[in-house]
Amino acid sequence: MAEIKIVQGDITKMKADAIVNAANKSLLGGGGVDGAIHAAAGPELLEECRALHGCETGEAKITKGYNLPAKYIIHTVGPIYRFHDQAENKRLLSNCYNNSLNLAKKYDLHSIIFSSISTGVYAYPAEQAAEVAFSTAKKWLLDHPDYEMEITMCAFDHQMYRIFTQELAKIN
Ligand code: ADP
Repeated sequence: MAEIKIVQGDITKMKADAIVNAANKSLLGGGGVDGAIHAAAGPELLEECRALHGCETGEAKITKGYNLPAKYIIHTVGPIYRFHDQAENKRLLSNCYNNSLNLAKKYDLHSIIFSSISTGVYAYPAEQAAEVAFSTAKKWLLDHPDYEMEITMCAFDHQMYRIFTQELAKIN
Protein backbone atom coordinates (compact mmCIF):
# COMPACT_ATOMS: atom_id res chain seq x y z
CA MET A 1 0.00 0.00 0.00
CA ALA A 2 1.13 3.55 -0.66
CA GLU A 3 2.63 5.43 2.25
CA ILE A 4 1.85 8.79 3.73
CA LYS A 5 4.81 11.14 3.84
CA ILE A 6 5.48 14.30 5.80
CA VAL A 7 7.45 17.37 4.84
CA GLN A 8 8.17 20.75 6.37
CA GLY A 9 8.23 24.04 4.44
CA ASP A 10 6.40 26.37 2.10
CA ILE A 11 3.82 24.41 0.08
CA THR A 12 3.93 26.96 -2.76
CA LYS A 13 7.48 25.76 -3.57
CA MET A 14 6.54 22.08 -3.72
CA LYS A 15 6.15 19.97 -6.81
CA ALA A 16 3.27 17.52 -7.06
CA ASP A 17 0.27 16.77 -9.26
CA ALA A 18 -1.75 18.82 -6.76
CA ILE A 19 -1.32 20.86 -3.62
CA VAL A 20 -4.28 21.44 -1.31
CA ASN A 21 -5.15 24.96 -0.28
CA ALA A 22 -6.88 25.77 3.03
CA ALA A 23 -9.29 28.17 1.35
CA ASN A 24 -12.31 30.08 2.61
CA LYS A 25 -15.85 29.78 1.27
CA SER A 26 -15.46 32.67 -1.18
CA LEU A 27 -12.44 31.03 -2.88
CA LEU A 28 -11.26 34.56 -3.56
CA GLY A 29 -8.09 34.39 -1.51
CA GLY A 30 -7.28 35.33 2.06
CA GLY A 31 -4.45 35.15 4.55
CA GLY A 32 -2.20 32.26 5.55
CA VAL A 33 -1.50 29.54 3.05
CA ASP A 34 -4.34 30.78 0.81
CA GLY A 35 -2.69 34.19 0.42
CA ALA A 36 0.71 32.59 -0.21
CA ILE A 37 -0.75 30.32 -2.91
CA HIS A 38 -2.53 33.18 -4.70
CA ALA A 39 0.60 35.35 -4.52
CA ALA A 40 2.81 32.61 -5.94
CA ALA A 41 0.36 31.28 -8.55
CA GLY A 42 -0.38 34.73 -10.01
CA PRO A 43 -3.54 36.69 -10.87
CA GLU A 44 -4.95 34.11 -13.31
CA LEU A 45 -5.73 31.91 -10.32
CA LEU A 46 -8.13 34.50 -8.93
CA GLU A 47 -9.86 34.71 -12.31
CA GLU A 48 -10.44 30.96 -12.41
CA CYS A 49 -11.56 30.97 -8.76
CA ARG A 50 -14.15 33.68 -9.46
CA ALA A 51 -15.85 31.40 -11.96
CA LEU A 52 -16.20 28.65 -9.31
CA HIS A 53 -18.68 30.66 -7.21
CA GLY A 54 -17.35 29.64 -3.82
CA CYS A 55 -17.15 26.34 -1.97
CA GLU A 56 -18.99 24.89 1.03
CA THR A 57 -17.21 23.77 4.19
CA GLY A 58 -15.84 20.26 3.75
CA GLU A 59 -16.11 20.41 -0.05
CA ALA A 60 -13.27 20.76 -2.57
CA LYS A 61 -12.81 22.41 -5.98
CA ILE A 62 -9.90 22.28 -8.40
CA THR A 63 -8.02 24.85 -10.48
CA LYS A 64 -4.84 24.88 -12.49
CA GLY A 65 -1.59 25.66 -10.67
CA TYR A 66 -0.48 28.53 -12.95
CA ASN A 67 2.97 29.74 -11.81
CA LEU A 68 3.29 27.11 -9.08
CA PRO A 69 5.45 24.00 -9.49
CA ALA A 70 2.27 21.99 -8.74
CA LYS A 71 0.07 21.18 -11.76
CA TYR A 72 -3.22 21.70 -9.93
CA ILE A 73 -4.52 23.35 -6.79
CA ILE A 74 -7.32 21.71 -4.88
CA HIS A 75 -9.15 24.27 -2.77
CA THR A 76 -10.92 22.92 0.27
CA VAL A 77 -12.71 24.81 3.02
CA GLY A 78 -12.03 23.60 6.53
CA PRO A 79 -14.38 24.13 9.49
CA ILE A 80 -14.03 27.23 11.65
CA TYR A 81 -13.43 25.46 14.95
CA ARG A 82 -15.58 27.64 17.22
CA PHE A 83 -18.62 27.30 14.92
CA HIS A 84 -19.23 23.59 15.52
CA ASP A 85 -19.20 20.90 18.16
CA GLN A 86 -16.42 18.31 18.31
CA ALA A 87 -18.15 15.65 16.22
CA GLU A 88 -19.17 18.10 13.51
CA ASN A 89 -15.66 19.61 13.34
CA LYS A 90 -14.25 16.12 12.88
CA ARG A 91 -16.78 15.21 10.21
CA LEU A 92 -16.23 18.41 8.24
CA LEU A 93 -12.43 18.25 8.43
CA SER A 94 -12.45 14.60 7.42
CA ASN A 95 -14.68 15.54 4.45
CA CYS A 96 -12.01 18.05 3.36
CA TYR A 97 -9.39 15.31 3.07
CA ASN A 98 -11.75 12.75 1.51
CA ASN A 99 -13.24 15.11 -1.03
CA SER A 100 -9.79 16.43 -2.00
CA LEU A 101 -8.50 12.90 -2.54
CA ASN A 102 -11.61 11.91 -4.51
CA LEU A 103 -11.23 14.98 -6.72
CA ALA A 104 -7.54 14.22 -7.30
CA LYS A 105 -8.45 10.68 -8.35
CA LYS A 106 -11.18 11.97 -10.65
CA TYR A 107 -8.52 14.07 -12.42
CA ASP A 108 -6.19 11.05 -12.56
CA LEU A 109 -3.67 12.74 -10.27
CA HIS A 110 -1.21 10.57 -8.37
CA SER A 111 0.60 12.86 -5.94
CA ILE A 112 -0.99 15.31 -3.55
CA ILE A 113 0.44 17.56 -0.84
CA PHE A 114 -1.92 18.82 1.86
CA SER A 115 -1.50 21.96 3.89
CA SER A 116 -2.72 21.56 7.45
CA ILE A 117 -6.36 22.51 6.86
CA SER A 118 -8.10 24.68 9.52
CA THR A 119 -5.10 24.88 11.87
CA GLY A 120 -4.30 28.55 11.24
CA VAL A 121 -6.91 31.31 11.43
CA TYR A 122 -9.70 28.69 11.74
CA ALA A 123 -8.06 27.60 15.02
CA TYR A 124 -8.58 23.82 14.91
CA PRO A 125 -6.20 22.44 17.59
CA ALA A 126 -3.15 21.09 15.75
CA GLU A 127 -3.01 17.61 17.37
CA GLN A 128 -6.70 16.94 16.82
CA ALA A 129 -6.53 18.17 13.23
CA ALA A 130 -3.49 16.01 12.50
CA GLU A 131 -5.28 12.98 13.92
CA VAL A 132 -8.20 13.55 11.52
CA ALA A 133 -5.86 14.26 8.58
CA PHE A 134 -3.73 11.14 8.97
CA SER A 135 -6.54 8.75 9.85
CA THR A 136 -8.69 9.96 6.94
CA ALA A 137 -5.80 9.73 4.47
CA LYS A 138 -4.90 6.25 5.69
CA LYS A 139 -8.50 5.07 5.35
CA TRP A 140 -8.69 6.53 1.84
CA LEU A 141 -5.59 4.60 0.80
CA LEU A 142 -7.02 1.40 2.27
CA ASP A 143 -10.29 2.03 0.41
CA HIS A 144 -8.45 2.52 -2.91
CA PRO A 145 -5.86 -0.28 -2.95
CA ASP A 146 -5.56 -0.31 -6.75
CA TYR A 147 -4.92 3.41 -7.18
CA GLU A 148 -1.40 4.81 -6.87
CA MET A 149 -1.61 7.93 -4.73
CA GLU A 150 1.33 9.54 -2.97
CA ILE A 151 -0.03 11.59 -0.08
CA THR A 152 2.20 14.13 1.64
CA MET A 153 1.26 16.22 4.68
CA CYS A 154 3.00 19.60 4.72
CA ALA A 155 3.87 21.21 8.05
CA PHE A 156 4.76 24.87 7.83
CA ASP A 157 6.76 25.01 11.05
CA HIS A 158 8.73 22.65 13.23
CA GLN A 159 6.03 22.40 15.89
CA MET A 160 3.55 21.02 13.32
CA TYR A 161 6.21 18.75 11.86
CA ARG A 162 6.73 17.22 15.30
CA ILE A 163 2.98 16.60 15.66
CA PHE A 164 2.91 15.01 12.18
CA THR A 165 5.78 12.70 13.14
CA GLN A 166 3.77 11.48 16.13
CA GLU A 167 0.60 10.95 14.08
CA LEU A 168 2.49 9.08 11.37
CA ALA A 169 3.90 6.72 13.98
CA LYS A 170 0.37 6.11 15.31
CA ILE A 171 -1.17 5.07 11.98
CA ASN A 172 1.72 2.86 10.83
P1 ADP B 1 -7.20 28.02 7.90
O1 ADP B 1 -7.95 29.29 7.61
O2 ADP B 1 -7.83 26.81 7.25
O3 ADP B 1 -6.93 27.84 9.36
P2 ADP B 1 -4.47 29.00 7.42
O4 ADP B 1 -3.87 29.34 6.10
O5 ADP B 1 -4.68 30.12 8.38
O6 ADP B 1 -5.82 28.19 7.10
O7 ADP B 1 -3.57 27.91 8.12
C1 ADP B 1 -3.52 26.55 7.71
C2 ADP B 1 -2.14 26.00 7.97
O8 ADP B 1 -1.28 26.40 6.89
C3 ADP B 1 -1.46 26.49 9.25
O9 ADP B 1 -0.94 25.37 9.93
C4 ADP B 1 -0.34 27.40 8.73
O10 ADP B 1 0.79 27.36 9.58
C5 ADP B 1 -0.02 26.77 7.40
N1 ADP B 1 0.64 27.62 6.40
C6 ADP B 1 0.65 28.97 6.29
N2 ADP B 1 1.38 29.36 5.22
C7 ADP B 1 1.85 28.22 4.63
C8 ADP B 1 2.67 27.94 3.51
N3 ADP B 1 3.16 28.90 2.73
N4 ADP B 1 2.96 26.63 3.21
C9 ADP B 1 2.46 25.63 3.98
N5 ADP B 1 1.66 25.82 5.05
C10 ADP B 1 1.37 27.10 5.38
